[in-house]
Amino acid sequence: MFSGKTEELIRRLRRAQIARQRVEIFKPVIDDRYAKDHIVSHSELKIPSRAVRTAKDVLRWAHEAQVIGIDEGQFLGAELIDVCEKLARAGKRVIVAGLDQDYMGKPFEPMPQLLAISEFITKTLAICMVCGAPANRTYRKVAKGGRVVVGGADLYEARCRRCFDLGQRAKAADPIHQFPEESHEIAKPVRRRGAAAPARSRRRVR
Ligand SMILES: [Zn+2]
Repeated sequence: MFSGKTEELIRRLRRAQIARQRVEIFKPVIDDRYAKDHIVSHSELKIPSRAVRTAKDVLRWAHEAQVIGIDEGQFLGAELIDVCEKLARAGKRVIVAGLDQDYMGKPFEPMPQLLAISEFITKTLAICMVCGAPANRTYRKVAKGGRVVVGGADLYEARCRRCFDLGQRAKAADPIHQFPEESHEIAKPVRRRGAAAPARSRRRVR
């Protein structure tokens, strides 16, 4: 979440289209946050896609394709492992984006199994919303629902390992913590020794 994984997926699929390869793109029907018929990144890149109810539905539409893109793979269940194996065995390039951990920080099936059988893996990291460190976890801000609750920045924030473990004790978006140098400059302008004092304080001296 917020790591740019959908953006990266779209980039790769666009390149395949530019190379005139036959591309089919899928996403789970559960994820209709932005659009039903497009994959949309947080940075508002988008590409047309087909919404599927189950992983097996991918097989119905993918037999002509050379390249298959699947977003939010964590919502398609264990069946997706078999589906990807079948497609890859048929010589197709299969690109799956998904969350590898759930909101508890536990491996989010079927992504761990897909990581194990993939030839290539790219881990994209977000930025921790508390401290600005690289973040690989998704923190759910409100106590609500089970493992699958679809939401955006209203429900989730990216966190690093440390801030994830702190839970509610870590408070998000503290700008001084996040950008220490900039905040310092705003709060207290740096003046070199011997430099003229700002106009206002000189007036006060007189
Ligand atoms: Zn952090």
